[in-house]
Amino acid sequence: MNFNAKMKDIKNYEAGKPIELVVREFGIEPKDIVKLASNENPNGCSPKVQEAVSKIVSKMALYPDDSMTALKSSLSKRFDVEDENVIIGSGSDQVIEFLIHAKANSKSKILMNSITFAMYEIYAKHVGAEILRTSTQEHDLDEFYEIYKAEKPSIIFLCTPNNPTGDAIDASKLFDFVKKIDSDTLVVVDGAYMEYALIKDSSKEVKPKDLVDQFDNVIYLGTFSKAYGLGGMRVGYGLADAKIIKELYKLRPPFNITTLSLEAANVALEDEEFVNKSIVENFSEMKRYEEFAKEQKIDIINSYTNFVTLCLNSSQKSSEVADLLLKKGMIVRDLSGYGMNAIRVTVGTQEQNSRFFELTAEIL
Ligand SMILES: *Cc1c(COP(=O)(O)O)cnc(C)c1O
Repeated sequence: MNFNAKMKDIKNYEAGKPIELVVREFGIEPKDIVKLASNENPNGCSPKVQEAVSKIVSKMALYPDDSMTALKSSLSKRFDVEDENVIIGSGSDQVIEFLIHAKANSKSKILMNSITFAMYEIYAKHVGAEILRTSTQEHDLDEFYEIYKAEKPSIIFLCTPNNPTGDAIDASKLFDFVKKIDSDTLVVVDGAYMEYALIKDSSKEVKPKDLVDQFDNVIYLGTFSKAYGLGGMRVGYGLADAKIIKELYKLRPPFNITTLSLEAANVALEDEEFVNKSIVENFSEMKRYEEFAKEQKIDIINSYTNFVTLCLNSSQKSSEVADLLLKKGMIVRDLSGYGMNAIRVTVGTQEQNSRFFELTAEIL
């Protein structure tokens, strides 16, 4: 059978390996497996979420509230914008899909950092758009601007903090850059890890409200999958000028967020104390990774997120190190597919991190 010719070009997204797979493939007991591969919150989510969700399981037979009024107004209140500035997706992934389909086609160009979140490219290929990349590992906004001027892309992705490297753009530089971009180019600011960055260093904090108030060509993306500990519930959001949100709504499938997920996200958003506590713990555990890197004489990228990127020495191949760790029940992310000899490790609990140091020291 012949498929849409664009399909040939699309690679599957390689998700972090689930624990179940390691059980099946290596016969390791689930209790001996540690997954530090998908930047989930090792403390899970707020205990209030489980309580609230268990109270509404009986509502499963009914379709969800498709207006999503409760979560939408909690988000607009949190970010001090209007409800019309908010769209909710099945993960912010889905919002990325909407915005690419709404703005780009096979004649469009989409500009992104040399190394960045893989889903931008995958969705860009859905519509057959041309992908343009900068050349440096960190976002170089001067180079972004040079390429923008020469190529006039339809969409520019800025991922800050960036996945899979963990570095972040200075908020003031980001605003200066966006001011120079023509209003027909959509700028996407992916803040999946922004909750972490703003606690570590306020100069990295990009306030969605400022973007929405100042620009009609910018969309900010956030997610409940990382700091809020709700990866399994699939809830993310986009905040932008009402005209952008209105277009994205045309692509939204009905009932794209389940009743349980809407409730979970809404309750999680209220429990700021839980989120802030896990972020503080995250950065205190991250210090141990910095010490570990120093001891092992390997480079670590200064991270504003809940993961660290360890750049191995040329004698150590990241794919082999990741494989050896996997056989010992430790799941991390090999970054050789991004052209880096590095592994990305989610900062886990104290115990999980100790186990990582122990196993990795044996291998290196
Ligand atoms: C995890 C992540 C997302 C989206 O996650 P969802 O689970 O789909 O909300 C988006 N961007 C980046 C950079 C991420 O790391």
